Amino acid sequence: MRFDVIRRGVGLCMVLGVMLPLVCRAADERKQLAFDVIDRNAEQMTAISDSLYYFGELGMQEFESTKLLKDTLEAAGFRTELGGAGMPTNLWAEWGSGRPKIAIVTEIDALPGGSQTPGEFGRKPLVKDAPGHMEGHNTHGGVASTAAFAVKEVMQRNNIPGTIAISFGPAEEQLASRPFLVRAGYFKDVDAVIYLHIRDTLQTGFGVQNYAAISSIFTFHGKTAHGAINPWDGKDAVDAVELMDIGFDKLREHLRPTTRAHRTITIGGIQPNIIPDKGQIWWFVRDASMPAAKVTYDKLLKIAEGAALMTGTSYDVQYAASAWPQLFSRAIGEAIQKNIDMVGMPQWTEEENQRAKDFQKSAEKPVVGLQTKVTPLGGRAQAASSNDSGDISWVVPAGSMNFPSAIPGIEAHEWHAGVFPTSSISHKGQVVGAKTLAASVIDLLTSPDVLQKARVELDEQLKKTAYFSLLPPDAAPPVELNQADMEKYRPEMRKFYVNKTPRLQ
Ligand SMILES: [Zn+2]
Repeated sequence: MRFDVIRRGVGLCMVLGVMLPLVCRAADERKQLAFDVIDRNAEQMTAISDSLYYFGELGMQEFESTKLLKDTLEAAGFRTELGGAGMPTNLWAEWGSGRPKIAIVTEIDALPGGSQTPGEFGRKPLVKDAPGHMEGHNTHGGVASTAAFAVKEVMQRNNIPGTIAISFGPAEEQLASRPFLVRAGYFKDVDAVIYLHIRDTLQTGFGVQNYAAISSIFTFHGKTAHGAINPWDGKDAVDAVELMDIGFDKLREHLRPTTRAHRTITIGGIQPNIIPDKGQIWWFVRDASMPAAKVTYDKLLKIAEGAALMTGTSYDVQYAASAWPQLFSRAIGEAIQKNIDMVGMPQWTEEENQRAKDFQKSAEKPVVGLQTKVTPLGGRAQAASSNDSGDISWVVPAGSMNFPSAIPGIEAHEWHAGVFPTSSISHKGQVVGAKTLAASVIDLLTSPDVLQKARVELDEQLKKTAYFSLLPPDAAPPVELNQADMEKYRPEMRKFYVNKTPRLQ
């Protein structure tokens, strides 16, 4: 595959070579060095990703995962900071100094109930009911670290000025950390970021990619009374919850078609003959833009006020999470696409393709096998889901990069997605992912024109929609999130740890 990449790389240069043959050759040599570093460290990279798979840690509890990444990156020469912005599992690593500064942004958290025996096509948890990686975030750790290490080697060899950084933000699955990272100023001196995520293909994109989300928990406080003897003395906090729900339903007819709102009642009373003094309802409001989501959210606040007024209760609102839609730069996307086209998809074996087909069949999905072609550059349809890395993309120009370590047709957040993250398919996808990522970071470090264009694009967007943080001034990160669950399952999960000490060299 190495020679294939050189051939494709030179092919790309012949197009550009008309103007800049020497620069182009130098760029190719740098990227080839990065590819050599990645090929040499392929087993170390997948040892990182596989270790994270078995840690299977939920958001804010990524203690084993961040410890392994911190140790690995420090041994590889990086400076690290663990625990910044008030979150014990927030890991930042960097190498180099000054500008330009390019950061890889990604996450490593697992999902509740996701424990699965890798390679098993039937439902077979490693540990019953335990968390596990059913979105493949474990692969992000290996790819980001190894790509950053390859970039460092290239920077050292070629005296390229600047800084390469990695931000492993906690609890992406609960949209819980990135607004805090932005508020803490992590991206103030960063020139561009590349947001990394597993997928079933090698791809980038540009434009607004997904939805804004605001999540808050409303707790109503009333007064208990006997349900039969003196209900008139009670103030029913669960009535307030119900009225809030009905109030929002009345609003639904008058909302934009782009709006999404969903809720769950988290405290619904004690027993029927006790008028409840506490009721709680947890809301998500989403829309295609944050200002639009905020308009609906402000109406939701008024509905809570009305529900309290009608029931004589009081209430408080606790901010739970928020996310701006991810906004990706076209200029950075174009730079990444060139590397996607150069690196190309992995060479799957017939066995791997057949195994993917067998799995698709057993999961009752279309039997299409593995992707063999990279995705051409294009704007993607805006998805209604959200990712808290969106906030970062409104304060620093951002690109996105997906790599092919997942099986086509298998949706994340479902146990089937936990079957392949440690397979040879995932491993090969990680290699092309790390190469594409390293080459793209090298391009950003050495292309002031691309950084400039991306900055102009973001400034144009910000003129139309100014960024504001949804964080209340006194909001603190929810560091207790998932703590009880991890404490419950970790002792059993520990038996499956792979106990490797990856070393990038
Ligand atoms: Zn994800």
